[in-house]
Amino acid sequence: MKSESTAVRLQRLARPDARVLGVYNSGLSADAVREKYGVEHVAKLASNENPLGASPQVTRALIAEASGSAIYPDSASRAVRQKIASATGVGLEQVVMGNGSEEILQMLCTAFLNPGDRVVTLIPSFGLHEIFPRMMGAEITMVGVDAQRQFDVAAWEQALSTPVKLVIFSNPSNPVGCMLNREGFQRIIDAAPQDCVLVIDEAYYEYCESDLDYPDSLRVLAQQTRPWIVLRTLSKAYGLAGLRIGYGLASDVELVNLLDRVRTPFNINRSAQAAALAALEDKAHVAASMEFVSQQRAIISATLREKGYEVVPSHANFVFFDCQRPSVELAEQLLTYGVIVKPWREPGYARWIRVSVGSEHDNQLFLRSLELISMQANAQEAE
Ligand SMILES: *Cc1c(COP(=O)(O)O)cnc(C)c1O
Repeated sequence: MKSESTAVRLQRLARPDARVLGVYNSGLSADAVREKYGVEHVAKLASNENPLGASPQVTRALIAEASGSAIYPDSASRAVRQKIASATGVGLEQVVMGNGSEEILQMLCTAFLNPGDRVVTLIPSFGLHEIFPRMMGAEITMVGVDAQRQFDVAAWEQALSTPVKLVIFSNPSNPVGCMLNREGFQRIIDAAPQDCVLVIDEAYYEYCESDLDYPDSLRVLAQQTRPWIVLRTLSKAYGLAGLRIGYGLASDVELVNLLDRVRTPFNINRSAQAAALAALEDKAHVAASMEFVSQQRAIISATLREKGYEVVPSHANFVFFDCQRPSVELAEQLLTYGVIVKPWREPGYARWIRVSVGSEHDNQLFLRSLELISMQANAQEAE
């Protein structure tokens, strides 16, 4: 037999679902942009990081933890789970930790999805809500937003009227920034078949926590007699994206046990555990971050609207807007000014950009660069 190349062998050996998987668009690093475009300052507004950074307590905790680097971390992350349990009012045994909440999404897909199982999620969506289910060979139904770019509850009820294994959506939604209110949340929960797992991704929970219309998902779900999990993270409001730590609050200990079996045992490293303990202590830092983001978000949204762009009212630390031309092109031009944004690519959203709320300086750099680019485009048209 003629010998095969490695590439051909790989094609044959890999699982078909893995072979055809889409690549998660994790965006460009500031260093890459600095090098490629020769800019000094980079405004990294593509990953929804906290412009105020982490609490200063986190730095102290990390320094204190450094001497423990030779020792394996607690595989049960007990101290952090304890703290999260008491802060959220759920039992310790209902808390599961992930190397970022995205790892919990992966654990859920690994634990529950057989090829052909059906998953219902949102479009436009957080990429991993689609990629992880596809990795397991699941069939995906994507529910769009309505004409006002809000949760289309009637469409959700329709999509949930046939059997489904996992229901996954973020609230508030990434990338749209819309918030599903109490009534809509209750309707979607009521519409979901009994034999499914509800996955509510609350990565931006802290930005809505004080909104009276934001559903108290833990209280609503506690009435349910089926498995559910609420995902939250320390990457966004707490500013720990670089350390990778997120958590899930699950309906019961059985679900946590199941996820524990499919996860890598030491998934949360010592630094992340120490940092999380310190970050969770510093409520004032989170409050200051929320205040700052809400003030800057209002400025960005108002300025974009004045320039005639359609902007979705945002309940999180980013703004989603129709840039009225191919978003990939505009994002590329913004890079030449050192501004990184996230151009959307999903069908129907190829003119939309998601821009994170950054520092005041970076937000202004984004707005000014956008203005310069549109002036150039207008000048070219006039020629
Ligand atoms: C950022 C984000 C996450 C992932 O957060 P990590 O905890 O950093 O993995 C999950 N879901 C949504 C909707 C997000 O926007």
